[in-house]
Amino acid sequence: MIRRFTYLTIIAMVLFQTVSCSFLDELAYLTLSPFEQDSEKNEVSPYDKNVDFGFVPSTYYTGQQDDYSFGNASTSVQEIYGHFDRLADGSYMTREGIGNASDGSRMYMYRLTSPTPSFTGSASSRRDKTKLKIIIICGQHGFEKSSIYGTYYFVRDLKERYMEHEVLKYFRQYADFIIIPCANPYGIDNQIYVNANGVNLNRNWPVENWTSVEGAKAGQSEFGGYSGGDQPEVKNITRVLEENKDALLVLDFHTNGSGCVEKGRLNWISMTLPDDYYRNLLIDVGNYHLCNISSAFEAMYPSEIGDETTICGYMDGSDHFSRTGYLSTYAAQQNFLSLTFEGFNGFPNSPAYSDNVKKANCELLGNYLVVMCGVLGGVTYQTP
Ligand SMILES: [Zn+2]
Repeated sequence: MIRRFTYLTIIAMVLFQTVSCSFLDELAYLTLSPFEQDSEKNEVSPYDKNVDFGFVPSTYYTGQQDDYSFGNASTSVQEIYGHFDRLADGSYMTREGIGNASDGSRMYMYRLTSPTPSFTGSASSRRDKTKLKIIIICGQHGFEKSSIYGTYYFVRDLKERYMEHEVLKYFRQYADFIIIPCANPYGIDNQIYVNANGVNLNRNWPVENWTSVEGAKAGQSEFGGYSGGDQPEVKNITRVLEENKDALLVLDFHTNGSGCVEKGRLNWISMTLPDDYYRNLLIDVGNYHLCNISSAFEAMYPSEIGDETTICGYMDGSDHFSRTGYLSTYAAQQNFLSLTFEGFNGFPNSPAYSDNVKKANCELLGNYLVVMCGVLGGVTYQTP
């Protein structure tokens, strides 16, 4: 059993609201005692997948495209697949059908595969490790489309611009991705929250002891279906998760509603209840990431953020483990690291779906992932 977190400096705190960097400064140098091994927890920790994180860069990722004009509120599923398809070259990136949605349309996933190292001789320290694999699911709520566009531009960078940024090079070398861009095709085409059966898919995942929300009816935002996992979209994606149990993380990408967000709401990270040391590390990841992204966004997007001087996002989710039907809860119960990751459709001071919104969502995603790999891989970050 590899224990790479011994002596790791961490910030052990749960944040329910916006945090301040100065507060983090005070806590950044706390050092915990060496982690005590706990055989019971070892069995459930996603870290037991013994992932090869490789050499994680600590550079900040900025989107590398010249043009972020694709995607707005009315962009169709067909157009979205068309854009992803143009990136799928059949070698690094491939497309696979995963079943039909509630409106009868075909659903697809895209697989991005890093080269498998082939060392000769016996000097390979990577051979017994699990490849870093990340699953990203977008668009459960059909009108939260900037999550899809942010992911699209991140994938496009990975495909076309990977030699131009350390973070992209890193992911090309070490990570496999599975991307499901359109989890709710009917909702995306019709710019609504629910699927063709009027179900909020993110209340339908077959978590342990799934229950319906009392009084909720089809078409209403809290209606989660008639039984856990009864919706075709959920069934299709559940199968993908079952076939990829070796994945480390399931990131369920949303946006915080369908319009422009308020100050301080740019990146809402909602986690399942951390119940072991490794899941707790995601709190450190979130803290560092939010500080990191805030200073960068204030410099890059000053007119959109306005007089924002605090952290651009927040974390919560302490009660998530007990809430029914969430993908992040289901994924955690299946031994993935998981979170609901909420970007945004519009900056506080500018229109929804501007080019900068899509670039910023791409950067939220890329930076969260690289910080996660760094923290889980043993890199010690200091508050930016
Ligand atoms: Zn949502």
